[in-house]
Amino acid sequence: MKALITGGAGFIGSHLAETLLARGDRVAVLDNLSTGSMQNIAGLKRLPGFEYIVDDVLNQRVLAEMVDDADVVYHLAAAVGVKLVVESPVRTIETNLKGTEVVLEAAAKKRKKVLLTSTSEVYGKGAKIPFGEDDDLLIGPSNKGRWSYACSKLMDEFLAIAYWKERKLPVVVVRLFNTVGPRQTGRYGMVIPNFVRQALTNKPITIYGTGKQQRAFGYVGDVVGALMALMDAENTNGEVFNVGNEVEISIEDLAKLVKQMTGSASELVYVPYDEAYEAGFEDMQRRVPDLNKVRKWISYQPSHQLRDILEKVIEYERAR
Ligand code: UDP
Repeated sequence: MKALITGGAGFIGSHLAETLLARGDRVAVLDNLSTGSMQNIAGLKRLPGFEYIVDDVLNQRVLAEMVDDADVVYHLAAAVGVKLVVESPVRTIETNLKGTEVVLEAAAKKRKKVLLTSTSEVYGKGAKIPFGEDDDLLIGPSNKGRWSYACSKLMDEFLAIAYWKERKLPVVVVRLFNTVGPRQTGRYGMVIPNFVRQALTNKPITIYGTGKQQRAFGYVGDVVGALMALMDAENTNGEVFNVGNEVEISIEDLAKLVKQMTGSASELVYVPYDEAYEAGFEDMQRRVPDLNKVRKWISYQPSHQLRDILEKVIEYERAR
């Protein structure tokens, strides 16, 4: 089996590549290193069955060749991180829309199954907790940059499902909830690498807003296991799945936990959203996946809870 991973030098993509190689699959990575890095795949470069090309998914000639050469396509290449999305909306929208369009088109020509990673952002400001795959979606207005990300990924979902319905291209859509673990960069605002780095350097830990907002964090190792199982299962075509963890923590409590686990002298500071992101920024208070569907289709049981994950991230960041 040979898998193409677009965005394979990113945080989740590199873990996926590693796990596929470990079970004996061959892996080709296509990544433009916009948010991914060579460091993430440094350990894989010498492994037999691994290859990578530094290029953009929008380079259709290269992409088509790589799709031809693979059995399945994991499409992870996308603009990620709320900070990046707010700061570079044009790039976000274009990368997400055009990238998915060309990947689906190339895969459809050769009938290669595609797994599209979408995001829990598509649930927007939905208040019915937990979020189920068939729920209505409540996206904010178009003058708030954050929502362009949700909408672009949602269009990707529509397009993927349309390809399945109309062209019989096997596709499965996965909505990833907050996914964390070693190698995630704090550069694009993600909270856990940010807090851990701040704590380890005794800098202020920056809690945005009131800190009462809650998140549920999934371990990257569990997430890539689910991606592989959903790709391998034959009855997942045309389906959408939530993947993540259901156990919530408030961001304020997360900051305290990180401080305690690192033995840090950092103070906790509260930064208004306007300063952290942009004027009028809207955050969601809670975001919890309903995991019943994914559990019905594959055996999915998160192996790592928050403390174990934080231990791994702290160890990784200390080693850096
Ligand atoms: N956050 C924070 N401090 C930071 C980075 C993020 O308080 O340094 C908050 C952010 O506003 C959000 C939560 O942590 O409420 C999770 O942020 P992240 O960007 O990791 O993921 P999101 O859930 O926003 O996609």
